[in-house]
Amino acid sequence: MNIEQLTLAELQQGLKDKRFSSLELTQSYLARIKDFDATINSFITVTDELALTAAKLADEQLAKGNTSPLTGIPLAHKDIFCTDGVKTSCASKMLDNFIAPYNATVIEKLNQQHSVMLGKTNMDEFAMGSSNENSFYGACKNPWEVSCVPGGSSGGSAAAVAAGFAPAATGTDTGGSIRQPAAFCGLTGLKPTYGVVSRYGMVAYASSLDQGGVITKNAEDAAIFLNAIAGFDAKDSTSVEKANEDYTRLLSASLQGKVIGLPEEYFSDQVDSAISQSIEAAKKVLEQQGVTFKSVNLKTTEQAISAYYIIAPSEASANLQRYDGVRYGYRCDNPKDLEDMFVRSRTEAFGEEVQRRILIGTYALSAGFYDAYYRKAQKIRRLIKEDFENAFAVCDFILAPTTPTPAFKIGANTKDPVAMYLEDIFTISVNLAGLPALSLPCGFKGNLPIGMQLIGKPFSEAELLQAAHQFQQATDWHTKTPVLTKA
Ligand code: GLN
Repeated sequence: MNIEQLTLAELQQGLKDKRFSSLELTQSYLARIKDFDATINSFITVTDELALTAAKLADEQLAKGNTSPLTGIPLAHKDIFCTDGVKTSCASKMLDNFIAPYNATVIEKLNQQHSVMLGKTNMDEFAMGSSNENSFYGACKNPWEVSCVPGGSSGGSAAAVAAGFAPAATGTDTGGSIRQPAAFCGLTGLKPTYGVVSRYGMVAYASSLDQGGVITKNAEDAAIFLNAIAGFDAKDSTSVEKANEDYTRLLSASLQGKVIGLPEEYFSDQVDSAISQSIEAAKKVLEQQGVTFKSVNLKTTEQAISAYYIIAPSEASANLQRYDGVRYGYRCDNPKDLEDMFVRSRTEAFGEEVQRRILIGTYALSAGFYDAYYRKAQKIRRLIKEDFENAFAVCDFILAPTTPTPAFKIGANTKDPVAMYLEDIFTISVNLAGLPALSLPCGFKGNLPIGMQLIGKPFSEAELLQAAHQFQQATDWHTKTPVLTKA
């Protein structure tokens, strides 16, 4: 059994046909993590004992015929989702000692379905980053090329799936953190419409942008996984009150007659030529499936980065106020007084990028600068939303690169935060507009995967997954897996 090749759909079938038990599967993934994760560093915590217990329980459920689609299937979770009794660090020294006292809704739903948690994955600290280098636990490596980053902030989740440590993993996406690592690691990553997946128990970065989602081997798996975690949650005030839907329902429907918009601003010379060529080839495949293309404009693309890097840090500076050394998380040694405790706890436990963002956010929200920065950024946010609405008046989806370049070398952008921020140029507008989008593999540059992005209208997840699945029926980029070597 080559577990690193198996999809969620195949695992479901295998469990049903009793070709393997959940316990056997879980043991195989844990063994693979043990063999290879010393090189990749995709897990912060491996919950092996809990996983084995959960797998035995799942096998009992399977034997009784008490099954849900993910029963018995091992999964990995970004270390931003609270997991009852298990360390939830957000890759920060601040939360290195934090054992969550409750489960995030996403985790709770998966537990109820008896899926098996293998562990918690590496990420950029508090989800701030595009490379997984901002982690208290060290950089995560790209399984395709260990001298390169896996992308971020859900880099550990993407690396774990690409390396075959788990068949699928959860992620969160505030400005691209599911789609960009999925692109860098040759995977399918779906960021749902804001409000589709509950944020309850998902450590907050920028609450109006954060959205949980999935990183999988293909679109069919993304649909199966999304079915298991989506849905209204009264515990999240921004959760959308809407009937549950089956995201697999359109997978096999033809794309005949669909119109895909191509934003002129996204196909410029800032995109690596290998990426442009792969997308050109992908367009031909889609054309053969009955899709037509139309040029559209997203005029505010240039301003989106500036707006995002005001709004996200502003929200972050407010959200991260709670880490004060008093209630939970890191507290400095021997504080002189209360203020010393606040200052030193935060100074000692937040990494450089997190501190930079808190400073930017506090500055942008301060009385003298609020109108100049925060209010202006909110106005741009509205224009971005309007741009998309206008584009969607003439097309069903938008096709774009996910990233300007394939995975870059570890260390290449760490000295220049603005260069790192520019990595998000094609992904962040989607979060500012609250739209669903997915990244799927469409080629390689040498050994490095290339991803393309499909952006949809609000709540069009099923259509996006249909388009991605149809593309994957005609191509095999998504079936490639990297060869790993032991440390
Ligand atoms: N790279 C972006 C940032 O650093 C997006 C991160 C994310 O989506 N969590 O904020």
